[in-house]
Amino acid sequence: MHTLRVPAGPLAAPAPDQLRANVTGLRCRECGAPEPVGARYVCSDCLGPLEVVYDPAVTARATRARIEAGPPSLWRYADLLPVLGPDPAHRVDLGAGLTPLRPAPRLAAALGLGELWLKDDTRNPSGSFKDRVVSVALSAARALGFTTVACASTGNLANAVAAHAASSGLDAYVFIPEDLEVGKIVASAVYGAEVVAVRGTYDQVNRLCSELAEREEWGFVNINLRPFYAEGSKTIGFEIAEQLGWTLPDHVVLPVASGSMLTKVHRAFGQLRDHGLVDGGIPRISGAQATGCSPVAAAFTRGDGEVVPQRPDTIARSLAIGDPADGRYALRVAAETGGAIGHVSDAEVVAGIGLLARTEGVFAETAGGVTVATLAALARQGVVGRDERVVAMISGDGYKTVDVLADTVGPTLRTGPSLRDWRTARAARG
Ligand SMILES: *Cc1c(COP(=O)(O)O)cnc(C)c1O
Ligand SMILES: [Zn+2]
Repeated sequence: MHTLRVPAGPLAAPAPDQLRANVTGLRCRECGAPEPVGARYVCSDCLGPLEVVYDPAVTARATRARIEAGPPSLWRYADLLPVLGPDPAHRVDLGAGLTPLRPAPRLAAALGLGELWLKDDTRNPSGSFKDRVVSVALSAARALGFTTVACASTGNLANAVAAHAASSGLDAYVFIPEDLEVGKIVASAVYGAEVVAVRGTYDQVNRLCSELAEREEWGFVNINLRPFYAEGSKTIGFEIAEQLGWTLPDHVVLPVASGSMLTKVHRAFGQLRDHGLVDGGIPRISGAQATGCSPVAAAFTRGDGEVVPQRPDTIARSLAIGDPADGRYALRVAAETGGAIGHVSDAEVVAGIGLLARTEGVFAETAGGVTVATLAALARQGVVGRDERVVAMISGDGYKTVDVLADTVGPTLRTGPSLRDWRTARAARG
């Protein structure tokens, strides 16, 4: 197991504006037991998941001015992200983050909502929000001395790991279910990663990778590096606040696969408040799932707090995690903040993709369709209010999942090549 070797002698005092190591250890999210910094993710006492513990003297350096003067990527929030050594050479940065927060008045009108914003994470280097978590995880991997990184993926994570590994000279193994969308397979293989197509569901891929993580000297970004990986999702929350002029919205709607993103966006809002970077109440946080893989939404509806695993069957492949690692935490966040976890059919997902594209000019993958359709459902139910300032998370690019639209969109007018052909065709259309 890789453990961070802290140099014995005193480090040269860094200049105040320099990057400083800020992680003092890991801690169990269930029992609070401390664990040393390293590639580990389960508590040795209770097997609970681990999270990063920060040095408050370093995180306190985060001010609005310091953040605004930082790079145009998620690394502007470096003081609030895991930095394992004083050496910025470990940083893996393809420019993930600081994606547009777009006003969406036309979509808002279509849904009967008031003020609506889209967090447009289609604009990341490999086209999804996973570039955020990977940028942070691979930076930790390099600081911990890994030369090979890996992941269990529903597609987007594989793309992000392959791209970021290529950019930083790391070897990559990405494990995916063999029946993924062609676009997502190509967009991993092109970067030179070893793409391992597994005959099984994502949950089986994940189990295999958990076993491999015990045997190989590899940094699995969402397994043994998961505490670091998860921190990357906080940057969505940081950016929303900064882009709204250091204020918080009233309600945020996010897609749920493992539930990590939703949980960490909530954490980000809390951290911003703790550091005095924003004031006001924590937003309501709602989650979105596809009915064909909705274990967290089902648990929310039952209200018993227990997430019962499902076998996924949905076109929203990027969200198809039947046994979500952070499902229980996501449930708790939705309940505590007054949000909800909703679910929508595959037909509604396709309709949601179309509605978003036609009203706002943003082409999202299936996960974005899940979010927009769930937002529509929550608006109908009155869970999301007309008087609220709402942010919807659009987490991936539609060019990766064009296959799901092939039956519903295509040429709308056919004509021969002459002007007369055109006039005939145009007239026939009416
Ligand atoms: C992975 C993924 C999610 C959800 O992430 P979790 O943190 O696992 O809940 C949402 N949208 C897209 C496009 C993804 O690839
Ligand atoms: Zn524990």
